[in-house]
Amino acid sequence: MPQKTKETPMMEQYNAIKKDYPDAFLFYRIGDFYELFNDDAIKGAQLLELTLTARNKSAADPIPMCGVPHHAAQNYVDILVDKGYKVAICEQTEDPRKAVGMVKREVIQLVTPGTNMDQKAATAKSNNYLTALIEAKKDHYGFAYTDLSTGELKVSLLVGEEDVVNETMSLRTKEIVANHEVSPKLLADLTKLGILISYQDKITPHAELAFVTQNLTDMTEVKVVEQLLMYLTVTQKRTLAHLQAAEEYEPSHFLKMDHYAKRNLELVTSMRNENRNGTLLWLLDSTKTAMGGRLLKQWLDRPLINYAAITRRQNKVASLLDHFFERSSLQEELTKVYDLERLAGRVAFGNVNGRDLIQLKTSLLQIPKVKDILATINDGTFDDVIDHLDPVSDVTDLIDLAINDDPPVSTKDGNLIKSGYNQQLDDYRDAMKNGKQWIAELQAKERKTTGIHNLKIGFNRIFGYYIEVTKANLATLPEGRYERKQTLTNAERFSTPELKEKETLILEAQEKSTALEYDLFTEVREKVKAQIHRLQQLAKGVAELDVLQSFAVTSENYHYVRPTLTKQQHDLKIVAGRHPVVEKVLGEQKYIPNDVTMTPDNAILLITGPNMSGKSTYMRQLALIVIMAQMGCFVPATKATLPIFDQIFTRIGAADDLISGQSTFMVEMMESNEALAHATQNSLVLFDEIGRGTATYDGMALAQAIIEYLHDHVHAKTLFSTHYHELTALESRLPGLKNVHVGAVEENGTLVFLHKMLPGAADKSYGIHVAKLAGLPDSLLKRATTILTKLEKQPTVLPSGEQTDTAAAGTDQPVSSAAAVPSAVKEVNAEQKPGSAVTSKETEKQSA
Ligand code: ADP
Repeated sequence: MPQKTKETPMMEQYNAIKKDYPDAFLFYRIGDFYELFNDDAIKGAQLLELTLTARNKSAADPIPMCGVPHHAAQNYVDILVDKGYKVAICEQTEDPRKAVGMVKREVIQLVTPGTNMDQKAATAKSNNYLTALIEAKKDHYGFAYTDLSTGELKVSLLVGEEDVVNETMSLRTKEIVANHEVSPKLLADLTKLGILISYQDKITPHAELAFVTQNLTDMTEVKVVEQLLMYLTVTQKRTLAHLQAAEEYEPSHFLKMDHYAKRNLELVTSMRNENRNGTLLWLLDSTKTAMGGRLLKQWLDRPLINYAAITRRQNKVASLLDHFFERSSLQEELTKVYDLERLAGRVAFGNVNGRDLIQLKTSLLQIPKVKDILATINDGTFDDVIDHLDPVSDVTDLIDLAINDDPPVSTKDGNLIKSGYNQQLDDYRDAMKNGKQWIAELQAKERKTTGIHNLKIGFNRIFGYYIEVTKANLATLPEGRYERKQTLTNAERFSTPELKEKETLILEAQEKSTALEYDLFTEVREKVKAQIHRLQQLAKGVAELDVLQSFAVTSENYHYVRPTLTKQQHDLKIVAGRHPVVEKVLGEQKYIPNDVTMTPDNAILLITGPNMSGKSTYMRQLALIVIMAQMGCFVPATKATLPIFDQIFTRIGAADDLISGQSTFMVEMMESNEALAHATQNSLVLFDEIGRGTATYDGMALAQAIIEYLHDHVHAKTLFSTHYHELTALESRLPGLKNVHVGAVEENGTLVFLHKMLPGAADKSYGIHVAKLAGLPDSLLKRATTILTKLEKQPTVLPSGEQTDTAAAGTDQPVSSAAAVPSAVKEVNAEQKPGSAVTSKETEKQSA
């Protein structure tokens, strides 16, 4: 058997480091490359499409290896982290030229999905949140999250696994830092959602970060934030000065929607694809800054429920709409503002360059202008904003004084610092400049004395300054003074004692000046760093202004109106409401507006109408109008009066459940139950064709019982669309329910949907009508009409009034719609082949 090769010192070092990062790819720096070894290499080569090679190829046990050049490393790190892996960056921590034995190496950062500060433009308008979770006692959780690039940090106490899943999903968190006390079932569920769970059990409070928890009084909150901080400290291994003091939030202080509702309503992600197109965010986003873009998304995730707060936003939007010129200039200024929040984060991390500081200066220079613009509006609405916009002019002045307007990317090669900023630097620069002039003069002098006109003095890194003479002219060169340095094909290069002396002076000045520039730059950066919290405060103010101007722009472009929100009243009245996204896609002319009227005494609208007539658009339209209104935006309608809703429940569209893989019908029932259990009279419930996932009568019975329950016990404002025409008879019995339907007419032999909501129930025969238009045989259509007539002649399919009490209906009493219809079908079927009955539901389906 071949001998196992003895480990080289390098592999020994590698293995020792790798031992501490078993679950990460270790990027091990060797010279200009990061190398991966062993399993990391095999898996990494595959994921990153790299060539897999080996160390000690000829040995009996070669070590698999692959590598990436260090300057391109970020791309590779991003790829792995996007796929949910961690990457440990291991650097050489001493100068290889000075090292004795193995160069020291250390992991300087562990990049994880929740801590990656991806700087691609595409992600500028999104946050990347890292979440921490602890379970204080059964079902009571401490929950905190942060975006490492902006320093935002929020904390809350959540009750129930549902809320944890909802918060995590709506933040689109990729990684959760938990401890081993959290229920394994919950963690397993979160893993199924594609979230990486990292563990951080040990916590040693960090004195430097004490300010983060200073305002927290609840111990669970303190603990979960400390857990988050600990994980950041352990993985990032650098200063976290830009983190903001933790801010408590309470999910119930916002309009509550679970993540299914958010998905179904396509607020920030579309159901068809993963991008923004076709979402409410896409429609609303006319923000000019990345910060504004991120804040808009946050507002969309958490619409308000506080009357005064909504009104404050509305007032500002109204004021911006009234001041067109000011608004345009405001937009113009905002366009010049860079991502202050992330710039501040990078200042803290120490990875800004000169260009970043110039961006910071440019941004800050816009602030006084923004304040002036707001001041000219002069209607009092922006007074609070004006007071809060601190232009941080000390930082602007410092950067202006110190940093060149067009600095290079590198911070180590000079050309960063303005002249006049530092005397010593100016002296070095003079020496360099004089030196260069002296060289030019020397060249002229040498040409004259030697008579060689193409003699030139040049410089390269290896040989320094040299006098170059072409071979043809060598003979004319006087003997003695010229010392040969380098021979080229066509020329020889020389030095002279005088040239050597000046060279030393020039090079020394150059070296010292670049080193000094770097020091001065670091000093400026540290001074800026001391002002980070002011910059972050400013960023918040700018972001808010940006979102408000974006609301104004959208509201103006699409002719939205300011909704009247009622504090006490519960009436809802929308005149000529539109679905904002469908309207934008179809074009304003083509969209048919619809009214919605609901009162506490008439809280349920039962919607009937053929497929594709616009039922679900109507339902979503209402939800979107409510959400927009509670964000402070204007709404697509000609007039809108709305109560403030506390929650929105939906059961719309395809039901899917990522966690449990439940059947569609099960999910449908679970979502329905959510609403029945938690909705209040201030909630909005949207139920689209409940019960279609099961047998017709079963489904119809459930649908009816659900409506009755909502009517008798919940009193939430409810839109309920259904295919079960039998349910329309409920109107006569439930005073709080009203039938509406979508109109359709026949035009030149085609059925045209008017997309118009009309009072009353839909005409049942649409299905047969559509079938006729589709050219089905006459005899079949006649047969269908006969069945329909028979079905219609059945005694009322609904249970009597006394049975609306759900408690009674739920027990031995069969729901009579279910009992009555089968007998009708049986009777009709007796005249026909078995299995050919067409129920009203199926007829309707054909109209699609
Ligand atoms: P349903 O829920 O009744 O099956 P949808 O609400 O999905 O129907 O609407 C079907 C299509 O009809 C939509 O994709 C849209 O293009 C169009 N539509 C719906 N409502 C309107 C409207 N008010 N005005 C114009 N077109 C509409």
